[in-house]
Amino acid sequence: MTTTPQRLALVLGAAALLAAAPARAGKAHQHGLARLDIAVDASRVSIVLDTPLDNLLGFERAPRTDAERQQADAAVALLRDGGRLFRIDPAAGCTLAKVELASAALKLGDAAAAPAPEGHADLEARFDFDCKQGGRAASVEVGLFEAFKRLQRLDLQLATPRGQMKAVLQRPASRVALVR
Ligand SMILES: [Zn+2]
Repeated sequence: MTTTPQRLALVLGAAALLAAAPARAGKAHQHGLARLDIAVDASRVSIVLDTPLDNLLGFERAPRTDAERQQADAAVALLRDGGRLFRIDPAAGCTLAKVELASAALKLGDAAAAPAPEGHADLEARFDFDCKQGGRAASVEVGLFEAFKRLQRLDLQLATPRGQMKAVLQRPASRVALVR
């Protein structure tokens, strides 16, 4: 896992608030499950997806056949289309600014130079949206279950101007409320 300053800050902030949640301290890798962190401020919504590669591809290594390469390309294309994967409440006036993907197994992003992992492998995706009034975002429609059939559950960590909270999104639900 990459420890970008933003991610570290979010994790540390969460740890401070949720001291009784040791599950997030470790690197959970459970097929069917992924982590989604959503951070909202006035001018930006940032979403970080941390998922076993199995949830996206059904395998966890570099593709070996044309069919697997096509599968990997299709998954990457779906992730790069972040504006369709995450539909933020239009009241916030958000537009997708940047998508960053990192996976050692798929040779993507920051992790591209890392040695391909043996056994299990993950992918991290970061989606940055520029927003006119981020604080007005009351919800996000998440299209991950639609896009990736193997994914069953998302453990959510939300950081908004109103505070932090945890939530779980279970297939087939798609709506994440950002306000209680
Ligand atoms: Zn795995």
